[in-house]
Amino acid sequence: MTTAQQLSYDVQLTGTARTPAEREQVFADPGFGQHFTDHMISVDWTEGRGWHDARLMPYGPLTLDPATSVFHYAQELFEGMKAYRQTSGSIVCFRPYANATRFNRSAVRMAMPELPEDAFVESLELLVQTDREWVPRAEGQSLYLRPFMIATQPALGVNYPSRTYKYMVIASPAGAYFAGGVKPVSVWLSRDYTRAAPGGTGFAKCGGNYAAAFVAQRQAVENGCDQVVWLDAFEHRYVEEMGGMNLFFVFGDRLLTPALTGTLLGGITRDSLLTLAADLGLTAEEGRISIEEWRAGCESGELTEVFACGTAAVITPVGSVKGVDGGWTVGDGTPGALTMRLREELMGIQYGTRPDPHDWIHKIC
Ligand SMILES: *Cc1c(COP(=O)(O)O)cnc(C)c1O
Repeated sequence: MTTAQQLSYDVQLTGTARTPAEREQVFADPGFGQHFTDHMISVDWTEGRGWHDARLMPYGPLTLDPATSVFHYAQELFEGMKAYRQTSGSIVCFRPYANATRFNRSAVRMAMPELPEDAFVESLELLVQTDREWVPRAEGQSLYLRPFMIATQPALGVNYPSRTYKYMVIASPAGAYFAGGVKPVSVWLSRDYTRAAPGGTGFAKCGGNYAAAFVAQRQAVENGCDQVVWLDAFEHRYVEEMGGMNLFFVFGDRLLTPALTGTLLGGITRDSLLTLAADLGLTAEEGRISIEEWRAGCESGELTEVFACGTAAVITPVGSVKGVDGGWTVGDGTPGALTMRLREELMGIQYGTRPDPHDWIHKIC
């Protein structure tokens, strides 16, 4: 736990907020990460001074010196979470302190300053309260929140981390991920590329991990697949994760997800599903699975379902797998019963249609 620190915000509201009609136009087809709300949060950090100049301000571009270190050395990290409008009318977040903890874990790895957890959650509350009309009402829609931090020192020296940083939060209405019904994805097993190695940044939510992954994602698409699946760095044999989502393997009533060995991102959805699965009387384990076991399990019928999970798409079934040695189908290629059950349970908690026995819901307004 970081010590609580009250940031005092300078609040500057926009004079040009979008009209209700303009918002409705966005809600008609929000997509993902294309439209942004009227305001944003900005807080600066300076060595020797700590966090200062906390502002809620109109959404808009930044002006940065071309020598700003984030442009050159990618000292950057981010978080991703959603605000949901529940059936009761309340606007809530899901486990925001878990995101705060992960934000700081990433910050330590990237030699960046930590933000007190209460200040992190307070920044989300302030932005969502201000832009509450931007939280969509349609089923399955939400307001995606993107806290992030960049190194802002205008200097090219490579021997020290930046001495100044900027933390920001922006928000973007997000459509129901599977508007036309849940559709399984096909995945490509990446042998040519590695996402993360021990001692690297795999567990940190930093932009650099994504920059290095785009080429493999493109290769997946070139091979007719929707998503890339990352394997371990040494043998390209053990499954790690899928694009920006964690993977679960279902063997009847036993769930297995790759253990957090430092090379994969510890998803909050993943962590929540381990708990939910146990609540449902299923066995949920963290361990190791190779691509040979994946294939053999599907061929013998022992491995009944595979799904990916993350904040953006919640739960996505994996229908088929392809690699340089050929491909195979998971189950009959359609969404599995357990996959859909867990998806409904989790979304039920998030949207307030199911009880919340673990106090995961954090009410904002
Ligand atoms: C964010 C992310 C996830 C999913 O994390 P959630 O907290 O469940 O949204 C998984 N893998 C990667 C690489 C990520 O960046």
